[in-house]
Amino acid sequence: MRLSTLKGVTILKHYIKSNSPAHAQWFLTRRCNYRCKGCEVWLEKDYSGELSTEEIKIGLDNLRKLGVLEIVFSGGNPLLREDIGEILEYSSRYFITTIYDNGSIAAEKVDALKYADFVAISLDTLDEKKNDYLKGVAGSWRKAMNSIETLKNAGINVCVSPTISHFNVDEIIDFTKYFTERKIPVWYCLYWYDYAFEGRLFGIGTKNDEYEIVEKERLVRVIDEIRELKKERKGIFITDKTLEAVRELYANDRRTWNCKALQNFLVIDHLGRVAGCHCREPVTTIFELPEVWKSPELDRKREEYSKCTKCAYLCYIFYSVHTNTVGEMSILRDQWANIKFLLEKENTAEKLTGIKTSQ
Ligand code: SF4
Ligand code: SF4
Repeated sequence: MRLSTLKGVTILKHYIKSNSPAHAQWFLTRRCNYRCKGCEVWLEKDYSGELSTEEIKIGLDNLRKLGVLEIVFSGGNPLLREDIGEILEYSSRYFITTIYDNGSIAAEKVDALKYADFVAISLDTLDEKKNDYLKGVAGSWRKAMNSIETLKNAGINVCVSPTISHFNVDEIIDFTKYFTERKIPVWYCLYWYDYAFEGRLFGIGTKNDEYEIVEKERLVRVIDEIRELKKERKGIFITDKTLEAVRELYANDRRTWNCKALQNFLVIDHLGRVAGCHCREPVTTIFELPEVWKSPELDRKREEYSKCTKCAYLCYIFYSVHTNTVGEMSILRDQWANIKFLLEKENTAEKLTGIKTSQ
C-alpha cells in the first residue's frame, strides 16, 4: 500500500470529521466487454455523458472534503477508460484505492495498476467452463488466471474476488485454499438479486434466477468453514463480524445490522450521480455532494435506508457493521494478520525490485 503523507492526512481527517463516510464505490463507466448473465450494465448502449478525467478529479477532491477513507473503482469495466492510470494515480495519493477488473484487461495495464493499492480480479470458480459460462465470454477464465499471475509477478497487490452464488457455493472453500496457498488474497462478494426500486442506478439479477442460493444451509456451512479457515491461514479478506451478520440472516432469517447507506458508504455512477447504493435512485451529484451531505433531505434518506432490508451484498453489510472509530478499529484487529502479510509482501517486492512502495 502506498502510505503517503497525503494519505495520512485523509485518514486523520476521516477521524476528526464527525459523520464522514468511510467508503465510496465509483462505477466509472457502463462500458463492459463481458456479458455476465443477470447483469444489465452491459446491455446499456448509450455511453454519452461519462465524466471527463478533470471532472473525476474534482469529484475525488469533494470526497476528500467529506472525509472519505477508501475508494473502490468498478463499472462496467473501469479499465476500459483510457485515463485509468491518471485516475488511479490521483486517487491513491489520498485514498486507499481498489480497482476491479473482470480479468480481461489487467495484464495489459500493469503500468496503470501499479498506482492502485489493491487490484481485485473477479473470478468465480476454478472450473474453466463454468467460469466462461457465467461471464458469457469464452476464454475469460484463462485471461483472469493470467492477469492474476502477471500482476503478482509485477509486485502489485492482486486479490481474487469470487461472487458466491448457487453455482459455486460448494466450491468456495477449495477455491479459497487454492489461492491463499499461492499467497493471493481472497475477497468475497455474495450474489443478491436487486429489488426494483424506482430510478435505481442499475440492477443485477431477478428473483428465483439461477444464481440465487435457495438451500440456505449450504451457505451457512460455508460461512462456518471460512471462519475456521481464517484461524489457520492469511489472505482471507472478510471480517468475522461480516460473516456473523450473513450467517444470522441465512440461518435464522434475522438481520443484525441497520443499513448505513449515505452514512458510512455511498456510490457514484459514470455520470457523477450519487446514491446510497446502486439499487437506489440518485440523491445528488458528486459536484454538489459536500454542500448537501448534511441537508435534511439526505437525513430523511438516511433514516429510510437504515430501515431497508432489501439486499445483502457483502460490501454493504461490511460498511454497515463496521462503523465509526470502534467499528473501524475492529477491522484492524480482525485483519491484523493480513495487514502484516501485505506489508511483508511489499518489503519483499521492494527488496526484489528496488522500487519503494511508499512516496
Ligand atoms: S457483472 Fe461486471 S463484468 Fe459482468 S457484465 Fe456486468 S459489469 Fe461486466
Ligand atoms: S439495504 Fe441498504 S444497501 Fe441494500 S438496497 Fe436497501 S438501502 Fe440499498
